[in-house]
Amino acid sequence: MTVTIALVYPELLGTYGDGGNATVLAQRLAWRGHEARVVTVHAGQAVPETCELYVVGGGEDLPQALAAEKLRAGRALHHAVDGGAVVLAVCAGLQILGERFVGPDGRPSDGLGILDCRTTPSARGRAIGEILVQPAGEWAGDGLPVLSGFENHSGVTELGPGCRPAGSVVVGVGNQDGTVEGAVAGRVWGTYLHGPVLARNPRLADMLLGWAVGPLGPLDDQEPEALHAERCRRARGERGRLWRSERGRPSEQGRRSERGRLWRSERGRPNERGRRSGPAGDGRLGQNDEPSGPGPLGRARLGTRWLCRLASGRYLASGRYLASGRYLASGRSRPGATGR
Ligand code: GLN
Repeated sequence: MTVTIALVYPELLGTYGDGGNATVLAQRLAWRGHEARVVTVHAGQAVPETCELYVVGGGEDLPQALAAEKLRAGRALHHAVDGGAVVLAVCAGLQILGERFVGPDGRPSDGLGILDCRTTPSARGRAIGEILVQPAGEWAGDGLPVLSGFENHSGVTELGPGCRPAGSVVVGVGNQDGTVEGAVAGRVWGTYLHGPVLARNPRLADMLLGWAVGPLGPLDDQEPEALHAERCRRARGERGRLWRSERGRPSEQGRRSERGRLWRSERGRPNERGRRSGPAGDGRLGQNDEPSGPGPLGRARLGTRWLCRLASGRYLASGRYLASGRYLASGRSRPGATGR
Protein backbone atom coordinates (compact mmCIF):
# COMPACT_ATOMS: atom_id res chain seq x y z
CA MET A 1 0.00 0.00 0.00
CA THR A 2 1.22 3.50 -0.78
CA VAL A 3 1.16 5.83 2.19
CA THR A 4 -0.02 9.28 1.16
CA ILE A 5 1.03 12.43 2.97
CA ALA A 6 -0.89 15.61 2.18
CA LEU A 7 1.07 18.84 2.40
CA VAL A 8 -1.68 21.39 2.89
CA TYR A 9 -1.43 24.86 1.28
CA PRO A 10 2.36 25.32 1.48
CA GLU A 11 2.09 28.71 -0.24
CA LEU A 12 0.06 29.99 2.70
CA LEU A 13 1.31 27.77 5.48
CA GLY A 14 4.98 27.14 4.97
CA THR A 15 7.12 29.36 7.15
CA TYR A 16 10.50 28.10 8.28
CA GLY A 17 10.45 25.21 5.86
CA ASP A 18 7.55 23.47 7.57
CA GLY A 19 6.83 21.69 4.29
CA GLY A 20 9.99 19.74 5.01
CA ASN A 21 7.99 17.76 7.56
CA ALA A 22 6.18 16.01 4.71
CA THR A 23 9.51 15.16 3.05
CA VAL A 24 10.83 13.74 6.32
CA LEU A 25 7.77 11.53 6.78
CA ALA A 26 7.92 10.21 3.21
CA GLN A 27 11.66 9.62 3.30
CA ARG A 28 11.60 7.76 6.59
CA LEU A 29 8.94 5.46 5.16
CA ALA A 30 10.87 4.97 1.93
CA TRP A 31 14.06 4.07 3.83
CA ARG A 32 12.08 1.26 5.41
CA GLY A 33 10.78 -0.03 2.12
CA HIS A 34 7.30 1.50 2.27
CA GLU A 35 5.87 3.23 -0.76
CA ALA A 36 5.23 6.82 0.21
CA ARG A 37 4.00 9.80 -1.72
CA VAL A 38 3.67 13.49 -0.84
CA VAL A 39 0.60 15.13 -2.33
CA THR A 40 1.02 18.88 -2.38
CA VAL A 41 -2.38 20.52 -2.04
CA HIS A 42 -2.00 24.02 -3.39
CA ALA A 43 -4.11 26.83 -1.99
CA GLY A 44 -7.45 26.76 -3.74
CA GLN A 45 -7.33 23.04 -4.53
CA ALA A 46 -9.65 20.63 -2.78
CA VAL A 47 -7.97 18.84 0.12
CA PRO A 48 -8.23 15.06 -0.32
CA GLU A 49 -9.95 13.26 2.54
CA THR A 50 -8.30 9.86 2.36
CA CYS A 51 -4.60 10.50 2.99
CA GLU A 52 -2.94 8.72 5.89
CA LEU A 53 -1.10 11.81 7.10
CA TYR A 54 -1.59 15.58 6.80
CA VAL A 55 1.00 18.28 7.35
CA VAL A 56 -0.23 21.82 8.06
CA GLY A 57 2.52 24.40 8.55
CA GLY A 58 2.91 27.84 10.06
CA GLY A 59 2.15 31.17 8.47
CA GLU A 60 1.79 34.89 8.91
CA ASP A 61 -1.55 36.26 10.10
CA LEU A 62 -3.08 37.06 6.69
CA PRO A 63 -2.22 33.83 4.84
CA GLN A 64 -3.23 31.98 7.99
CA ALA A 65 -6.70 33.54 7.85
CA LEU A 66 -7.04 32.76 4.12
CA ALA A 67 -6.05 29.15 4.69
CA ALA A 68 -8.48 28.81 7.58
CA GLU A 69 -11.32 30.15 5.49
CA LYS A 70 -10.70 27.59 2.76
CA LEU A 71 -10.24 24.70 5.17
CA ARG A 72 -13.37 25.63 7.09
CA ALA A 73 -15.44 25.69 3.93
CA GLY A 74 -14.13 22.39 2.56
CA ARG A 75 -14.27 20.35 5.81
CA ALA A 76 -11.93 17.79 4.28
CA LEU A 77 -9.62 17.86 7.30
CA HIS A 78 -12.58 17.22 9.59
CA HIS A 79 -13.51 14.15 7.57
CA ALA A 80 -9.92 12.95 7.40
CA VAL A 81 -9.51 13.24 11.18
CA ASP A 82 -12.84 11.46 11.74
CA GLY A 83 -11.51 8.71 9.49
CA GLY A 84 -8.40 8.27 11.64
CA ALA A 85 -5.81 10.29 9.71
CA VAL A 86 -2.71 11.58 11.49
CA VAL A 87 -2.26 15.37 11.42
CA LEU A 88 0.84 17.39 12.23
CA ALA A 89 -0.16 21.04 12.65
CA VAL A 90 2.58 23.59 13.29
CA CYS A 91 2.07 27.03 14.81
CA ALA A 92 -0.50 28.75 12.54
CA GLY A 93 -1.60 25.20 11.69
CA LEU A 94 -2.19 24.46 15.36
CA GLN A 95 -4.04 27.74 15.82
CA ILE A 96 -6.25 27.10 12.76
CA LEU A 97 -7.20 23.64 13.97
CA GLY A 98 -8.40 25.17 17.23
CA GLU A 99 -11.74 26.83 17.92
CA ARG A 100 -10.57 30.44 17.54
CA PHE A 101 -7.46 32.30 16.58
CA VAL A 102 -6.42 35.91 16.02
CA GLY A 103 -7.29 37.32 12.60
CA PRO A 104 -5.07 39.80 10.74
CA ASP A 105 -7.19 42.66 12.13
CA GLY A 106 -6.49 41.46 15.66
CA ARG A 107 -10.04 40.18 16.08
CA PRO A 108 -11.06 36.60 16.87
CA SER A 109 -11.49 34.43 13.85
CA ASP A 110 -13.11 31.01 13.60
CA GLY A 111 -10.85 27.98 13.43
CA LEU A 112 -11.79 24.47 12.37
CA GLY A 113 -12.73 23.31 15.85
CA ILE A 114 -10.79 20.07 15.48
CA LEU A 115 -8.68 20.87 18.56
CA ASP A 116 -10.24 22.13 21.77
CA CYS A 117 -8.09 25.24 22.10
CA ARG A 118 -8.34 28.98 21.62
CA THR A 119 -5.64 31.44 20.57
CA THR A 120 -5.65 35.09 21.61
CA PRO A 121 -3.08 37.89 21.20
CA SER A 122 -0.24 37.79 23.66
CA ALA A 123 -0.04 40.66 26.10
CA ARG A 124 3.68 40.07 26.30
CA GLY A 125 4.54 40.43 22.65
CA ARG A 126 5.94 37.95 20.21
CA ALA A 127 7.75 34.85 21.41
CA ILE A 128 10.79 34.20 19.27
CA GLY A 129 13.64 31.79 19.76
CA GLU A 130 14.78 28.26 20.31
CA ILE A 131 12.42 26.09 22.33
CA LEU A 132 12.83 22.76 24.11
CA VAL A 133 9.90 20.66 25.26
CA GLN A 134 9.84 17.66 27.57
CA PRO A 135 7.15 15.39 26.13
CA ALA A 136 4.28 14.51 28.42
CA GLY A 137 3.33 11.19 29.98
CA GLU A 138 3.02 8.24 27.70
CA TRP A 139 5.10 9.78 24.90
CA ALA A 140 8.06 10.30 27.19
CA GLY A 141 7.44 6.79 28.51
CA ASP A 142 7.59 5.47 24.97
CA GLY A 143 11.04 7.00 24.63
CA LEU A 144 10.25 10.31 22.96
CA PRO A 145 13.12 12.58 24.05
CA VAL A 146 13.13 16.32 24.63
CA LEU A 147 11.84 18.02 21.50
CA SER A 148 13.80 20.81 19.87
CA GLY A 149 12.34 23.58 17.73
CA PHE A 150 12.16 27.24 16.90
CA GLU A 151 9.15 29.34 17.83
CA ASN A 152 7.90 32.63 16.45
CA HIS A 153 4.34 33.54 17.30
CA SER A 154 2.35 36.35 18.79
CA GLY A 155 -0.70 34.25 19.64
CA VAL A 156 -1.08 32.47 22.96
CA THR A 157 -3.10 29.29 23.11
CA GLU A 158 -5.28 28.04 25.90
CA LEU A 159 -6.28 24.40 25.93
CA GLY A 160 -9.73 23.06 26.80
CA PRO A 161 -10.37 19.66 28.36
CA GLY A 162 -10.64 18.02 24.93
CA CYS A 163 -6.91 18.13 24.26
CA ARG A 164 -3.71 18.02 26.22
CA PRO A 165 -0.29 19.59 25.87
CA ALA A 166 2.46 17.83 23.96
CA GLY A 167 4.73 18.51 26.89
CA SER A 168 6.22 20.99 29.30
CA VAL A 169 8.53 23.78 28.23
CA VAL A 170 12.17 23.43 29.23
CA VAL A 171 13.40 26.50 27.35
CA GLY A 172 11.16 28.97 25.57
CA VAL A 173 7.58 30.15 25.76
CA GLY A 174 5.31 27.54 24.20
CA ASN A 175 1.55 27.98 24.37
CA GLN A 176 1.62 31.10 26.48
CA ASP A 177 3.85 31.45 29.51
CA GLY A 178 6.67 28.97 29.37
CA THR A 179 4.76 26.17 31.07
CA VAL A 180 3.24 23.89 28.44
CA GLU A 181 3.51 23.48 24.68
CA GLY A 182 1.29 22.07 21.98
CA ALA A 183 -2.20 20.62 21.73
CA VAL A 184 -2.76 16.94 21.12
CA ALA A 185 -6.01 15.04 20.69
CA GLY A 186 -6.26 11.56 19.26
CA ARG A 187 -3.95 11.45 16.26
CA VAL A 188 -3.69 15.22 15.86
CA TRP A 189 -0.37 16.64 17.05
CA GLY A 190 -0.41 20.43 17.25
CA THR A 191 2.84 22.17 18.12
CA TYR A 192 4.53 25.56 18.06
CA LEU A 193 7.81 23.97 17.00
CA HIS A 194 9.26 24.91 13.63
CA GLY A 195 12.55 23.51 12.50
CA PRO A 196 11.18 21.72 10.52
CA VAL A 197 10.20 19.94 13.70
CA LEU A 198 10.40 16.42 12.24
CA ALA A 199 13.86 17.02 10.77
CA ARG A 200 15.08 18.03 14.21
CA ASN A 201 13.16 15.31 16.05
CA PRO A 202 13.27 12.07 14.06
CA ARG A 203 11.67 10.11 16.88
CA LEU A 204 8.62 12.33 16.80
CA ALA A 205 8.43 11.65 13.05
CA ASP A 206 8.51 7.92 13.74
CA MET A 207 5.89 8.20 16.44
CA LEU A 208 3.48 9.90 14.03
CA LEU A 209 4.34 7.38 11.32
CA GLY A 210 3.74 4.58 13.79
CA TRP A 211 0.25 5.94 14.45
CA ALA A 212 -0.43 5.82 10.71
CA VAL A 213 1.18 2.57 9.61
CA GLY A 214 2.03 0.61 12.75
CA PRO A 215 5.39 -0.24 14.31
CA LEU A 216 8.52 0.65 12.34
CA GLY A 217 12.04 -0.68 12.54
CA PRO A 218 14.97 1.52 13.57
CA LEU A 219 17.01 3.67 11.20
CA ASP A 220 20.55 4.92 11.38
CA ASP A 221 19.78 8.37 12.76
CA GLN A 222 23.27 9.56 13.61
CA GLU A 223 22.96 12.73 11.57
CA PRO A 224 19.55 13.91 12.78
CA GLU A 225 20.46 12.90 16.34
CA ALA A 226 23.61 15.02 16.08
CA LEU A 227 21.52 17.93 14.85
CA HIS A 228 19.09 17.37 17.71
CA ALA A 229 21.89 17.36 20.27
CA GLU A 230 23.45 20.49 18.81
CA ARG A 231 20.13 22.36 18.83
CA CYS A 232 19.43 21.31 22.42
CA ARG A 233 22.83 22.57 23.52
CA ARG A 234 22.30 25.79 21.69
CA ALA A 235 18.84 26.33 23.14
CA ARG A 236 20.09 25.82 26.67
CA GLY A 237 22.90 28.29 25.97
CA GLU A 238 20.43 30.86 24.70
CA ARG A 239 18.35 30.97 27.86
CA GLY A 240 17.34 34.38 28.92
CA ARG A 241 16.47 36.05 25.65
CA LEU A 242 13.25 34.52 24.60
CA TRP A 243 10.54 37.11 24.89
CA ARG A 244 10.37 40.16 22.74
CA SER A 245 7.93 42.97 23.00
CA GLU A 246 6.08 43.72 19.78
CA ARG A 247 6.14 47.46 20.35
CA GLY A 248 9.74 47.66 21.35
CA ARG A 249 8.82 48.16 24.96
CA PRO A 250 10.71 45.45 26.61
CA SER A 251 8.43 44.51 29.40
CA GLU A 252 9.50 46.90 32.08
CA GLN A 253 12.96 47.46 30.88
CA GLY A 254 14.14 43.95 30.56
CA ARG A 255 12.89 42.62 33.82
CA ARG A 256 13.13 38.90 33.96
CA SER A 257 9.94 36.94 33.96
CA GLU A 258 9.16 34.73 36.90
CA ARG A 259 10.91 31.83 35.23
CA GLY A 260 14.09 33.74 34.74
CA ARG A 261 13.70 34.87 31.16
CA LEU A 262 14.98 38.15 29.92
CA TRP A 263 12.56 40.20 27.90
CA ARG A 264 13.85 42.23 25.08
CA SER A 265 12.55 44.72 22.62
CA GLU A 266 11.99 44.29 18.92
CA ARG A 267 14.46 47.06 18.25
CA GLY A 268 17.19 45.15 19.94
CA ARG A 269 17.45 47.52 22.87
CA PRO A 270 17.19 45.05 25.61
CA ASN A 271 16.49 46.25 29.06
CA GLU A 272 17.22 49.87 28.19
CA ARG A 273 20.28 49.80 30.37
CA GLY A 274 21.12 46.20 29.99
CA ARG A 275 19.99 45.48 33.49
CA ARG A 276 19.04 42.03 34.54
CA SER A 277 17.45 40.98 37.74
CA GLY A 278 16.87 37.59 39.18
CA PRO A 279 13.49 36.32 40.34
CA ALA A 280 13.95 38.17 43.58
CA GLY A 281 15.14 41.27 41.78
CA ASP A 282 18.59 40.95 43.27
CA GLY A 283 20.44 41.87 40.13
CA ARG A 284 22.25 38.57 39.90
CA LEU A 285 22.38 36.00 37.24
CA GLY A 286 22.14 32.38 38.25
CA GLN A 287 24.81 29.98 37.11
CA ASN A 288 22.64 28.70 34.33
CA ASP A 289 22.02 32.20 33.16
CA GLU A 290 25.53 33.30 32.59
CA PRO A 291 25.99 34.51 29.09
CA SER A 292 28.32 32.18 27.30
CA GLY A 293 29.08 30.55 24.04
CA PRO A 294 28.34 31.82 20.57
CA GLY A 295 25.22 33.73 19.72
CA PRO A 296 23.77 37.07 20.64
CA LEU A 297 24.65 36.73 24.31
CA GLY A 298 28.35 36.29 24.76
CA ARG A 299 31.05 37.53 27.04
CA ALA A 300 34.52 38.93 26.90
CA ARG A 301 37.11 39.38 29.57
CA LEU A 302 38.47 42.72 30.73
CA GLY A 303 41.08 42.22 33.43
CA THR A 304 39.38 40.31 36.23
CA ARG A 305 35.96 41.23 35.00
CA TRP A 306 33.70 39.88 32.40
CA LEU A 307 31.85 42.00 29.94
CA CYS A 308 28.43 40.65 29.10
CA ARG A 309 27.51 41.11 25.50
CA LEU A 310 23.80 41.76 25.12
CA ALA A 311 21.62 40.88 22.18
CA SER A 312 21.96 44.44 20.87
CA GLY A 313 25.72 44.14 20.69
CA ARG A 314 26.16 46.44 23.69
CA TYR A 315 28.32 45.43 26.56
CA LEU A 316 27.46 45.41 30.18
CA ALA A 317 30.77 46.62 31.41
CA SER A 318 30.33 45.96 35.10
CA GLY A 319 29.95 42.78 37.00
CA ARG A 320 32.04 39.93 38.19
CA TYR A 321 31.91 36.30 39.08
CA LEU A 322 31.58 35.49 42.76
CA ALA A 323 33.34 32.57 44.40
CA SER A 324 30.03 30.68 44.28
CA GLY A 325 30.17 30.82 40.51
CA ARG A 326 27.28 33.25 40.30
CA TYR A 327 27.67 36.35 38.27
CA LEU A 328 27.00 39.62 40.01
CA ALA A 329 25.80 42.21 37.52
CA SER A 330 25.90 45.82 38.61
CA GLY A 331 23.33 47.02 36.13
CA ARG A 332 25.37 49.75 34.53
CA SER A 333 25.77 49.62 30.79
CA ARG A 334 28.48 51.13 28.68
CA PRO A 335 27.18 51.19 25.17
CA GLY A 336 29.88 50.34 22.71
CA ALA A 337 32.45 49.82 25.44
CA THR A 338 34.33 47.33 23.39
CA GLY A 339 32.42 47.15 20.16
CA ARG A 340 30.93 43.95 18.87
N1 GLN B 1 0.50 34.09 12.85
C1 GLN B 1 0.58 33.27 14.01
C2 GLN B 1 1.18 34.03 15.20
O1 GLN B 1 1.96 34.94 15.03
C3 GLN B 1 1.38 32.01 13.71
C4 GLN B 1 2.82 32.28 13.41
C5 GLN B 1 3.55 31.10 12.82
O2 GLN B 1 2.98 30.20 12.27
N2 GLN B 1 4.86 31.14 12.91
O3 GLN B 1 0.88 33.70 16.32
